[in-house]
Amino acid sequence: MELLDGKVTANAVLEELTEAVNQMKAEGKRAPHLAAILVGNDGASLTYVGGKVKACERVGFESSLIRMPEETTEEELLSKVAELNADDSIDGFIVQLPLPKHINEDKVVQAVAPEKDVDGFHPVNVGRMALGLPSFLSATPYGIVQLLERYKIPTEGKHCVIIGRSNIVGSPMSILMRRNAHPGNCTVTVTHSRTKDLAAFTRDADILIVALGRPEFVTADMVKEGAVVIDVGITRVEDTSRPKGYRVTGDVKFDEVAPKSSFITPVPGGVGRMTIASLMMNTLMAARKEIYP
Ligand code: NAP
Repeated sequence: MELLDGKVTANAVLEELTEAVNQMKAEGKRAPHLAAILVGNDGASLTYVGGKVKACERVGFESSLIRMPEETTEEELLSKVAELNADDSIDGFIVQLPLPKHINEDKVVQAVAPEKDVDGFHPVNVGRMALGLPSFLSATPYGIVQLLERYKIPTEGKHCVIIGRSNIVGSPMSILMRRNAHPGNCTVTVTHSRTKDLAAFTRDADILIVALGRPEFVTADMVKEGAVVIDVGITRVEDTSRPKGYRVTGDVKFDEVAPKSSFITPVPGGVGRMTIASLMMNTLMAARKEIYP
């Protein structure tokens, strides 16, 4: 078994980005600028956004964190999004999800200008990705593809089984794994909560990508010997022995699945690290106007 180390790989990506930013500055251009809107005080969201700001500092990007109170109205948020769309000093921005329940997330995602949508959530970017056109790729699936590529994991002709069909992970992941590219060219099965006999599918997977948000759901009996296992899950599980009172747990029972797998991502230190690195890559592409010239 070999660990797919998101920490090491993300560090390598961030090093490359630092070099690219230095190059831009040497050419007299300004550094890429990423903005993040955070509505409310959700602890996990604060941590995620904090990680993104730190990554910006590390690679030399400019960053702006725009905090709005929990009671922000949908109209106020949409007006902030319109402001950022029109601000030429900002190359890309994200609206940290989830949003408070009184705000329609779809409406907000669709209000972000596609050329600044570095999370890759806008229907135009998702549609372009599905058609194989240049687009911002959703950060988490893009990070997973990067991991597979950098560890030189063969994907062509493999059976890739995905647990979960969300708009931010499972669905875009299925598009990337079945596209005619490397990594890609898999035969893909997408499973979800209505799938009958889930284990019959997962046991046939050469590459198993797990994104359902249920801690330690995938057990050794559900995995084929030698499979590549990608654990996307991040759940805070109460743990009074830890200083913060919780630990972060993946969707895969790591201790028993790891010995059966050829490659596996740890949680933490796996996919999460790559998600941030991918967001940074998208921001650099936005600043260079590579997707939307
Ligand atoms: P989500 O929107 O809640 O979607 C979960 C998916 O899992 C749904 O498609 C659901 O099916 C399916 N599902 C639920 N129970 C199932 C079961 N018993 N059997 C099979 N499928 C089942 O979640 P998400 O946003 O995709 O996130 C999934 C996990 O990844 C969470 O832990 C989240 O925190 C984590 N995540 C991590 C990163 C990262 O950077 N590492 C990024 C994003 C998300 P239905 O469609 O039928 O409801």
